[in-house]
Amino acid sequence: MAAARLGIMGGTFDPIHYGHLVTAEAARVEFRLDVVVFVPSGIPPHKKPYDVSPAEDRYLMTVLATATNPYFKVSRIEMEREGPSYTVDTIREFASRLGPGIQLFFITGADATLEIVTWKDSDELLRQCSFIAATRPGYQREKIEEEVTRIKDRCPNGIYILEVPALAISSTDIRRRVREGKPIKYLVPESVESYIFKAGLYKVSNSAQALACET
Ligand code: ATP
Ligand code: MG
Repeated sequence: MAAARLGIMGGTFDPIHYGHLVTAEAARVEFRLDVVVFVPSGIPPHKKPYDVSPAEDRYLMTVLATATNPYFKVSRIEMEREGPSYTVDTIREFASRLGPGIQLFFITGADATLEIVTWKDSDELLRQCSFIAATRPGYQREKIEEEVTRIKDRCPNGIYILEVPALAISSTDIRRRVREGKPIKYLVPESVESYIFKAGLYKVSNSAQALACET
C-alpha cells in the first residue's frame, strides 16, 4: 500500500483566514494529501505572550473554519505541550505516533519556508518532511526559486513551490481591521467572524493589552 500523505499546516491562526484555507486546500489537491492537519501554536517562540490571543480561542476558530472540509483536521498537540512551540518537536511527535508508513508535507507561506533554516534543529526538521512553499502567482518567483535552490540539498524529501491565488490576506491586517471597526467579511469564514465579535477579540491595541497585562 502507498504511504499515507499527511499535510501539516502550523501557524498562530490569530485568526485563521481564507489565505490559510485556500492554501491548505490547494496543497491537498496538488500533492494528493489524504488529510491536512492544522496545528495552532501554543506559545509561539517569536512572539510575546500578550501579543497573542489565548490558544483556546485560536483553536476554536480553527475548528470552526475547517468544519466544512472533511479532509481538514485540527490538532491540540502544540497547545498541550509545555514551553514554546517548536515545529521540530511537533514533527517528531507526528512521526513517532504515525510510524514509517506516512509521508509528512509541511505547508507554509514561501517567506516562512525560507526561514526554516533558522528554526530549532532545522537539519532534523528538513530531513523529516517534504516542504510546500505557497506563493502568489508570479510574486517574486525568481527570488523564491533561487532561495529554494539554496536549501534544496538539505531537504532530501523535496521542497516545492505552490502558486496560490488571493494571498494578500494576513491575520495582522484582520486584527487591525477589527480594532479600527472596519469589516472583515469575506476575509474569514462567517463562523470565525462571529466568534471574533462574540469573544471580543482584537478590540484593544496590543500596546494597551500589554499595559493591562503588566498592571
Ligand atoms: P500574522 O499576520 O499574525 O503573522 P499570518 O496571516 O501570517 O499572521 P500565521 O498564523 O502567522 O498567519 O501563518 C501560518 C502559516 O500560514 C505560515 O506558514 C504563513 O506563511 C502562512 N500564511 C499566512 N498568510 C497566508 C496567506 N494569505 N496565504 C498563504 N499562506 C499564508
Ligand atoms: Mg505570519
